[in-house]
Amino acid sequence: MSLDFRKIRKDFPILDQQVHGKPLVYLDNAATTQKPQVVLDKVEEFYLKTNANIHRGAHFMANETTEAFEEARETVRQYINAGERSEIIFTHGTTESVNLVAFSFGEAFVSEGDEIVVSELEHHANIVPWQLLCERKKATLKVLPFDENGVLKIDELDGLLSERTRLVAMNHVSNTLGTINPVDKIVEIAHKRNIPVLLDGAQGIAHYPPDVQKLDCDFYVFSGHKIYGPTGIGVLYGKRKWLDQMPPFMGGGEMISEVKFSGTTFNELPYKFEPGTPNYIGAVALGTAIDYVQSLGVDNLAVREQELLNLATAKLKSIEGLRIFGEAENKVGVISFEIEGIHSFDLGTLLDQLGVAVRTGRMCTDPIMDHFGVPGMTRASFAFYNTEEEVEALYKALIRIKGMF
Ligand code: PLP
Repeated sequence: MSLDFRKIRKDFPILDQQVHGKPLVYLDNAATTQKPQVVLDKVEEFYLKTNANIHRGAHFMANETTEAFEEARETVRQYINAGERSEIIFTHGTTESVNLVAFSFGEAFVSEGDEIVVSELEHHANIVPWQLLCERKKATLKVLPFDENGVLKIDELDGLLSERTRLVAMNHVSNTLGTINPVDKIVEIAHKRNIPVLLDGAQGIAHYPPDVQKLDCDFYVFSGHKIYGPTGIGVLYGKRKWLDQMPPFMGGGEMISEVKFSGTTFNELPYKFEPGTPNYIGAVALGTAIDYVQSLGVDNLAVREQELLNLATAKLKSIEGLRIFGEAENKVGVISFEIEGIHSFDLGTLLDQLGVAVRTGRMCTDPIMDHFGVPGMTRASFAFYNTEEEVEALYKALIRIKGMF
């Protein structure tokens, strides 16, 4: 199917505006994606017509909201092909999902002297929760390095695993270098030793949704706002066999079966891990966002992003003194770079003055900055609604800024 991306862009009203008197060129999609009108409409419609707390009321609106919330869970289940709806837990985002597993899996399965393996390519959200766990349990964090192209040294993974390894936690796609990691190989290597794998899908979910049953990963986590959905909603997929054995992460309403001062019992999955009032409208709107990308065809969107990536890479490479970090063969539409002699904050500020929104700094990936020995980078990240003209605008803005130094 060939799509009219210019027409589709109109689904995103926020893109049609000026900043500092210049047309907005939004190239910060890896930080958060913009929301199509259908998602905005869904949020408004829900607050206008149906809002009521879920699972609690005997009244019409409470039932409608509960049904919509559970339908959204089913949409997520189908999108990643989880085996059961009860394996889909709504959280507030990737960060909370990783923390949930680090705490709860950690309580159940990690003890002194055990090991957790992450990679050098991780976002802080997939490092720090494991560091906290290791500190708490006197366990050790081991790190799989990446090479100069930003590709994981997958051949070294098996050597890092031992009898004491309790979990491997790695990202599906790097937010800083764009590298698409060989998640099937990671799972295969770890599973040969019966070690479970958590995949951080924050950057993978919009481009390459996994079939979690085929991939056989044990946990897959992501945020709604990276896939054209709202902020404050996220997902933890976990295999029932693990979730059943994991204690609750947080206590409160809904996650209980019965509360007695003599001892409380907990609710069944997924509610055991969903205490308090969840972001049910966020969940419903996330369902709408998933329906939206599926209506366009996720594969079509990935192809479009590759076109923009290829064009932008060629353009940026033609700029003297510009260095691109991470040139994996398999990567998403993310280009992190520096220009000799210009600090990334200055570059970002000047780009902003020209209407171009990018991310600058350390991208929540200090180890990647340390690997390359740089204080920060500038990152342009593309979504399917970006255009060739916007790539050109980025290029021209960089040339202009370079001329100022
Ligand atoms: N992991 C990766 C790879 C990310 O890119 C991000 C956000 O940029 C996160 C985790 C954290 O996501 P959130 O801030 O939505 O919890």
